[in-house]
Amino acid sequence: MSQDTMITGLTAAQVDGLACTVCGTDYLRVRVRVPHVPVGRSVTGSQVFACVGCRPDDAQRAAGGVLR
Ligand SMILES: [Zn+2]
Repeated sequence: MSQDTMITGLTAAQVDGLACTVCGTDYLRVRVRVPHVPVGRSVTGSQVFACVGCRPDDAQRAAGGVLR
C-alpha cells in the first residue's frame, strides 16, 4: 500500500491522524506512546496513521524516517 493510498470509512480521529486506522487506538488517550507510521491519506487528503505493530511493512519502510 503506498502512502498515497486513499483510505475511506475512517472516524474523525483517524482522519485527523490521531488514531490507528487498523485497530482504532487513540494516540492521544493511550498512556504509553504508540509508535505509528503514515499508511495513506483520508478522503480529505490528510495523512493517516497505523501502529507499527498493526502495519509492520510500513514501519519497516519508514524506519529512520517519520517514526514518531
Ligand atoms: Zn493499531
